[in-house]
Amino acid sequence: MNSREKLSSEKIFFGLREVININEIVKGTFLVEISSSAQLSKSEPGQFVYIIPKTQKRTILPRPLCIADADADTVKLIFKVKGKGTLYLSGLSKGDKISVMGPLGKGFQAVKEPVLLAGGGLGAAPLYFLAKKLRNNEKTSLVLGFKNKDEAYFINEFKSVLRNVFVCTDDGSLGSRGNVTGKIGEIIRDEKIICACGPRPMLKSLSAFAGENKMRIFVSLEERMGCGMGACLGCVVKIRAGGKEEYQRVCKEGPVFDGLKVVF
Ligand SMILES: Cc1cc2nc3c(=O)[nH]c(=O)nc-3n(C[C@H](O)[C@H](O)[C@H](O)COP(=O)(O)OP(=O)(O)OC[C@H]3O[C@@H](n4cnc5c(N)ncnc54)[C@H](O)[C@@H]3O)c2cc1C
Repeated sequence: MNSREKLSSEKIFFGLREVININEIVKGTFLVEISSSAQLSKSEPGQFVYIIPKTQKRTILPRPLCIADADADTVKLIFKVKGKGTLYLSGLSKGDKISVMGPLGKGFQAVKEPVLLAGGGLGAAPLYFLAKKLRNNEKTSLVLGFKNKDEAYFINEFKSVLRNVFVCTDDGSLGSRGNVTGKIGEIIRDEKIICACGPRPMLKSLSAFAGENKMRIFVSLEERMGCGMGACLGCVVKIRAGGKEEYQRVCKEGPVFDGLKVVF
């Protein structure tokens, strides 16, 4: 079995996809829609794809991006330009072809209402996919945190699928002033689960909050990745398991982990 056949037997797509649409939704942050495939249409919230950028001179290491939405027609990805990989992506146009591998990793599983969703900055992207699955459920609340109003995105899209959406910003320029953990503390009712994605300090403080309040928490972690398929061990994080600490791979065992077990 060659590597491509092995990937497809594992229900992972590997090949070219067409850019259906690409838009800068806020300065430096882009929404790109690519054509889907049978495997990509079965993606779960929290899973990611690997995009293989081609610069003018050479192909560089793949870059992981969370799946912000997926169906039989399109896959949506939201990314912020940071370095050469995301710069390449930002230069794509409608009709271009890009190399994609996915869906990869383990997403948010066993999410039962009532649940609190917490997204910080770009971390809101995979939560949109999850929010759509929990669509219009009274028992689901979402807190979105951004640095300021200029960085906020997708708020109307979230409001179209969820009734209880709260926004906060560090400087109070949109929604209430403050951070995601503080807002979660204000709005919590009888929820017993938090699903969170965002910067590591936010995930750390939310996990401490969940522990103090005897809640479960699932956090989506980011680490720099090499192979994306579990072989290179480049993306390991420390996890408490069976009374000891061990390393687990963000690309394979994650990116979504039990936040109470992560050694932050
Ligand atoms: C599972 C997973 C899902 C992700 N989903 C998204 C997403 O939906 N949208 C999005 O914009 N980004 C996402 N990221 C981060 C994204 O992969 C990096 O921003 C991207 O690889 C940067 O590539 P680059 O070539 O543009 O920058 P580089 O030139 O490689 O790096 C530029 C800067 O970005 C930092 N950086 C690079 N990779 C990462 C990383 N994995 N995590 C944190 N910082 C990094 C570097 O330290 C450096 O400061 C995700 C990362 C992981 C692991």
